[in-house]
Amino acid sequence: MSQPDGQSNTLDNLLEENRTFPPAADFAAQANATAELHDRAAEDRLGFWAEQARRLQWDSDWDQVLDWSNAPFAKWFVGGRLNVAHNCVDRHVEAGNGDRVAIYWEGEPGDSRRITYSELRDEVSRTANALTELGVGSGDRVAIYLPMLPEAVFAMLACARLGALHSVVFGGFSSEALRSRINDAEAKVVITCDGQFRRGSAAPLKANVDEAVTDTPSVEHVLVVRRTASEVGWDADRDLWWHDVVDRQSATHTPESFDSEHPLFILYTSGTTGKPKGILHTSGGYLTQAAYTHNAVFDLKPESDVYWCTADIGWVTGHTYIVYGPLANGASQVIYEGTPNSPHEGRHWEIVQKYGVTTYYTAPTLIRTFMKWGAEIPAQYDLSTLRVLGTVGEPINPEAWTWFREHIGSGRTPIVDTWWQTETGGIMISPLPGVTSAKPGSAQQPLPGLSATVVDESGTPVGRGEGGLLVLDKPWPGMLRGIWGDDQRFRDTYWARFAEQGYYFAGDGAKYDSDGDIWLLGRVDDVMNVSGHRISTTEVESALVSHPTVAEAAVVGAEDATTGQGIVAFVILRGGSGEDAGGDTAISTLREHVAHEIGPIAKPRQIMVVSELPKTRSGKIMRRLLRDVAENRQVGDVSTLADSSVMDQISAGMKSGG
Ligand code: ATP
Ligand code: MG
Repeated sequence: MSQPDGQSNTLDNLLEENRTFPPAADFAAQANATAELHDRAAEDRLGFWAEQARRLQWDSDWDQVLDWSNAPFAKWFVGGRLNVAHNCVDRHVEAGNGDRVAIYWEGEPGDSRRITYSELRDEVSRTANALTELGVGSGDRVAIYLPMLPEAVFAMLACARLGALHSVVFGGFSSEALRSRINDAEAKVVITCDGQFRRGSAAPLKANVDEAVTDTPSVEHVLVVRRTASEVGWDADRDLWWHDVVDRQSATHTPESFDSEHPLFILYTSGTTGKPKGILHTSGGYLTQAAYTHNAVFDLKPESDVYWCTADIGWVTGHTYIVYGPLANGASQVIYEGTPNSPHEGRHWEIVQKYGVTTYYTAPTLIRTFMKWGAEIPAQYDLSTLRVLGTVGEPINPEAWTWFREHIGSGRTPIVDTWWQTETGGIMISPLPGVTSAKPGSAQQPLPGLSATVVDESGTPVGRGEGGLLVLDKPWPGMLRGIWGDDQRFRDTYWARFAEQGYYFAGDGAKYDSDGDIWLLGRVDDVMNVSGHRISTTEVESALVSHPTVAEAAVVGAEDATTGQGIVAFVILRGGSGEDAGGDTAISTLREHVAHEIGPIAKPRQIMVVSELPKTRSGKIMRRLLRDVAENRQVGDVSTLADSSVMDQISAGMKSGG
């Protein structure tokens, strides 16, 4: 859309948020991170990363920290050799911590398993021996299509141990999505289970694999974990039970050393904006950033903390902050199989109380769901062990942030709002607990050693109080090394936009506030243009959520004859908001509220009350579908939606004038 004369191409800076939460003195006194970390990284960035790499055990040292001569294809810790699985498992046992619990696993029906680091070493070794027997070796690809079972972790680490690449496909994806990912990576083996417990019942999983592998020429074997004991179809030439093949293996396996740049995994992005990309990550740099960020951002104390990241291992958060970061650091962590409301809406808080969870890392979408369910639910549990809270996946609205701190963090815990992507491998922008004065809704500053800038369309950094595009202006250890099998798409997607400057284009809008802190403003593709003002979806959504009756909001720009685009909002009301909260008067109050919070230009043309919003399976709002509804179009591709019936309800509501 063209801009009126004199109108800049950057984002307008509308929403003001002035609350700050300085770190408590007692927390700061014991924190892993210090303000000096920034100074050290600023004075010698590569030297800083070389120090961070010493968190790992290398079989042979590197000769060069970074080789960027073939940009955008980076090499980190060039010439170094290590085994990633040895670093996540065996070395903790060798250091005398074999009896420490690695995983407190909690099944949805209430069964549980406790796995120490010694037991983890045995299981990973057995799995590696089994995969070797099935012909899997260095460089081969293994697809893992499992729910949140300990076997998913064993399988990922067994691949890493053998130098095989895993491609984890989220257990909620269809057979079609699984097939395309298997074929893109040409996986040799698929690891799955008979069925999974979701929302209190057993749902089949292997059936999807059977359907997917009818047309996957690369697949030689399907290895099946027994979980629900449901009936499954069986191909005797292809299918093998995990308990038949893995359990009889030796618990000894000698890990081999691999090059620092040896591929570790492929992971397809969430597909919020389009066709998923097979993101490729490698070993030494990725694990260094995973271990460092997990230590600094979550203030991990491996001897005493009980860490819990609620992500699914099918997402990058599950890779870096359930498997690689925490295990590289020798953490004890909770892994929960099921949904947050099975069998009741207090399930997460019951788990926090049961295991004495200290660190809880989740997604804003879930926090807004907890708000909708009501604060009286967490109030019934003892949450006093919690000392660090974190979020990832979307911007967190300031109101959701303060609710989280108040009702889950007892009004005292630091919250880390962590910005990163599948492509970045690890956290890039986040407050440091014990160091940063937190601001609700802002991810604030790149971590020490990492670099990010907000620029305008021409690549020039914008000033304080201004918005633009987020770029990463220096290579980083955990960065993607490419898109699997598609170097051209890798260059086009991330590097073409600012080719001259050599910046990585993240695809997100962002702004600096008056202190120079970074605020993420949603995807560039979602930015609205109202009468020549470029307005971020995030700011209008946050203004709506700051009203006491609103739990969640999604806004889109719909074509408008007079203003170019008009703002259309979809809101979910909080539990206990009362009958009238959706009535005409209430709606006009909400419109006025937005005008008051951020200015009349951002006042929604239309607000519709809905009971659900369309979300991807990783919980992100799919605004392009809402735009279709708002512009009266046929709704587009819904195949990556968590629940495709949501769109039918919203379209019907729109037609009835709701
Ligand atoms: P695709 O790239 O296939 O469309 P996706 O971008 O949703 O999918 P992910 O890599 O899982 O796939 O998500 C990364 C994106 O999530 C970021 O680019 C950003 O838009 C959003 N995001 C993650 N963390 C934050 C955060 N703390 N604040 C704001 N946005 C965030
Ligand atoms: Mg993305």
